[in-house]
Amino acid sequence: MALIVQKFGGTSVASTDRIKNVAKRVARWRAQGHDIILVPSAMAGETNRLIGLAREISPTPDPRELDVIASTGEQVTIGLLAMAMHAEGLKAKSFTGFQVGVLTDSTFTKARILKIDQHRIRKALADGHVVVVAGFQGADEFGNITTLGRGGSDTSAVALAAAMKADECQIYTDVDGVYTTDPRVVPEARKLDSITFEEMLEMASLGSKVLQIRSVEFAGKYKVKLRVLSSFEEEGEGTLITVEEKG
Ligand code: ADP
Ligand code: ASP
Ligand code: MG
Repeated sequence: MALIVQKFGGTSVASTDRIKNVAKRVARWRAQGHDIILVPSAMAGETNRLIGLAREISPTPDPRELDVIASTGEQVTIGLLAMAMHAEGLKAKSFTGFQVGVLTDSTFTKARILKIDQHRIRKALADGHVVVVAGFQGADEFGNITTLGRGGSDTSAVALAAAMKADECQIYTDVDGVYTTDPRVVPEARKLDSITFEEMLEMASLGSKVLQIRSVEFAGKYKVKLRVLSSFEEEGEGTLITVEEKG
């Protein structure tokens, strides 16, 4: 039995049907006896919509208020996912970043995670729940809601995996792994079975953004076993991000 953090990006939770599919996938992992922490993003397009609303009020929105608004997309998906898992007969509980104790600095719109409190998550897991934690958000020492920068739910997932000493952090997305370059731009791109953290960082610095760069740095630093896989296909192996090159 393993503890696995599973992050689902915006396109993977873009509709209630896709959310139901995520719940079915989680049910299969639970049936194998694994403990699961789910970390969803907002539904595809939702964060842009929310930021757009803020900009209709002010072209230069107050960053604290912008984070109050932008963080709500993930609050919707955690609740919907928990409900979809109940429909699968699973126990599940959702938590916002603040509720679960994701402490960040006060750099609104691109805050850094400082600490994650294990307590509440451990308790919910011990009670048999799938724990659903909102990605992309936390709160500072004064209780202000913060967000982690665009694409930040990757970093939420990796930080949770590090704090909880999870056996693996799985990033489910709309491609079946990491490619030599963006497969949507270059059709000849090849899927990689594994890639090192250093190579991932180099790729990101060249503009390829399959993962938020901070999540890769974090995973390298805390030795989190990180895997990128497709949420649309049956279980493939995806791409494992490793510390050392395979011999
Ligand atoms: P999510 O919403 O799941 O977080 P993202 O859009 O942030 O998904 O990241 C997945 C996208 O990253 C893919 O659809 C792909 O177009 C793009 N991408 C860029 N570079 C790569 C790469 N080297 N390998 C795979 N995908 C890449
Ligand atoms: N929903 C946030 C964004 O669109 C975080 C994420 O998707 O990782 O940037
Ligand atoms: Mg992303």
